[in-house]
Amino acid sequence: MTLFDLLAGYPPAFIILCLIVGLLIGSFLNVLVYRLPLMMQREWRQQARETLELPEQSEGEVFNLLLPNSRCPHCAHEIKPWENIPLLSFAYLRGKCSSCKAPISWRYPLVELTSGVLAAFIAWHFGFTWQAGAMLVLTWGLLAMSLIDADHYLLPDSLVLPLLWLGLIANYFGLFTSLGDALWGAVAGYLSLWTVYWLFKLLTGKEGMGHGDFKLLAMLGAWGGWQVLPLTILLSSLVGAVLGLLMLRARNAASNTPIPFGPYLALAGWIALIWGEQITQGYLQVVGFH
Ligand SMILES: [Zn+2]
Repeated sequence: MTLFDLLAGYPPAFIILCLIVGLLIGSFLNVLVYRLPLMMQREWRQQARETLELPEQSEGEVFNLLLPNSRCPHCAHEIKPWENIPLLSFAYLRGKCSSCKAPISWRYPLVELTSGVLAAFIAWHFGFTWQAGAMLVLTWGLLAMSLIDADHYLLPDSLVLPLLWLGLIANYFGLFTSLGDALWGAVAGYLSLWTVYWLFKLLTGKEGMGHGDFKLLAMLGAWGGWQVLPLTILLSSLVGAVLGLLMLRARNAASNTPIPFGPYLALAGWIALIWGEQITQGYLQVVGFH
């Protein structure tokens, strides 16, 4: 029996493999979420200097997704490979740096766990299929984008746009919808939020959301077709409104901090892609259409 036969014929094997790969990818996503915005800021500074014709200035040591090795932010202790095993290292180190004992954020194991559990769920829901492979990539991408948007109010083009193309390519092969529906999903996704943005700006003079949100909805449309857009917008607005109100209450209302919309769009789009048809059918039955 080959590995392929095992994964195709015995679903638990595929689910467990995806869980483990998901935990490892989650560990990488922690690095990506922390470093990608810093890499973008470095690039913007370089470009600004070029535009202003300022003398070139070195940004210091090489900094990308692989280099330098991760360090403890408190004592600069270099993280050893055995201190970097998803979940296990955090448990073994009891959430503290092995050198200076400074606490390690709970967010790291939480992101690893989320990534692993979501991957296992995709494997269980889609089975050993091309759909599962594509959805794994999308899920990890959405997780990374959501965290970066929550931290920096930023949805990097370098993540959103490749996933938009990937959605169109997946649907060239008809994985989730027809290529035509995917194309119009991308167009309608972009234009719908673009329209909301300009209406809101003309009426209030404020910017209600960023251009990254338009691109993110275009990307989700490219995966699920235009059919997923109404539910995605409805769900994300609902969740965004409820959580937004709770956060305003917690901060005593006066706060003017913007609320990132990306995480809600990402979650709503993910749900609409997987259960959109069932949710819509259920809703139509409840309101009396059959
Ligand atoms: Zn330390």
